[in-house]
Amino acid sequence: MGMLLLAGCAEGDTQDPGGQADSPAEDETTAEDSTEQADTEVTEDSEEPKSTAEQSPESEAEPASEASWDPESIHVLVNRANPLDPIDFVPSDLAVADAPNEFGDPELREEPAETLEELFAAAEADGIQLWVTTAYRDFEFQQALYDQYVADQGEEAADRFSARPGYSEHQTGLAVDVADLEDRDCYLRACFGETEAGQWVAENAPEFGFIIRYPEGAEEIVGFQYEPWHLRYVGVETAVEVTEQGLTLEEYWDQPPAPDYLD
Ligand SMILES: [Zn+2]
Repeated sequence: MGMLLLAGCAEGDTQDPGGQADSPAEDETTAEDSTEQADTEVTEDSEEPKSTAEQSPESEAEPASEASWDPESIHVLVNRANPLDPIDFVPSDLAVADAPNEFGDPELREEPAETLEELFAAAEADGIQLWVTTAYRDFEFQQALYDQYVADQGEEAADRFSARPGYSEHQTGLAVDVADLEDRDCYLRACFGETEAGQWVAENAPEFGFIIRYPEGAEEIVGFQYEPWHLRYVGVETAVEVTEQGLTLEEYWDQPPAPDYLD
């Protein structure tokens, strides 16, 4: 570790990152009050009149999850408007993912570490070789990384592709950057999304609970340029829905866009 050379990335790619993971994760809804009780009249009571908010026929199924501000939740929202709290948060269940990697022993929280291994195995079975570049990064590492980018390129440029410490999903233990180390041209660059490996990841990651967190053309919402290599774990149900609906996490969780830091 300790290698602070993660490249920034160009822009200008025109590839729709939203993969079509048509997965059958369709259960949920069940717990809702079922409307198909066709027993007529009865009327008496048997059914508390639900508070009105529930009855818009338009708003389809409930989302599989909601945003959380608990840093230990797999649904924690971290962006420029939502730093981690505490700012130097360290996950309690970090584990090493047994996956090919660039800098040694990539750490994630237990659940994503496990499904990342499955994701990599599935890729390999399809003839796609992936590597982890970095996964969990602690506050101090992110501080060093960000400071170096600012020193090299200025704050404005650095802010476009590197999170400030305390604002990085990598500090949650739920995010991982992947690459094809045999294709250096698209290493941590937007064009990774057009490579065979990048396309495989976009299509298949949701089935393992990961989404492309910073999709193309969403910088004004998520605060970052297109990063087809940055995967965020949110669990399978949420990942599949977010991807199928072509949304950012902010949109899916009905949260405001976070293009800029608040300070
Ligand atoms: Zn990343």
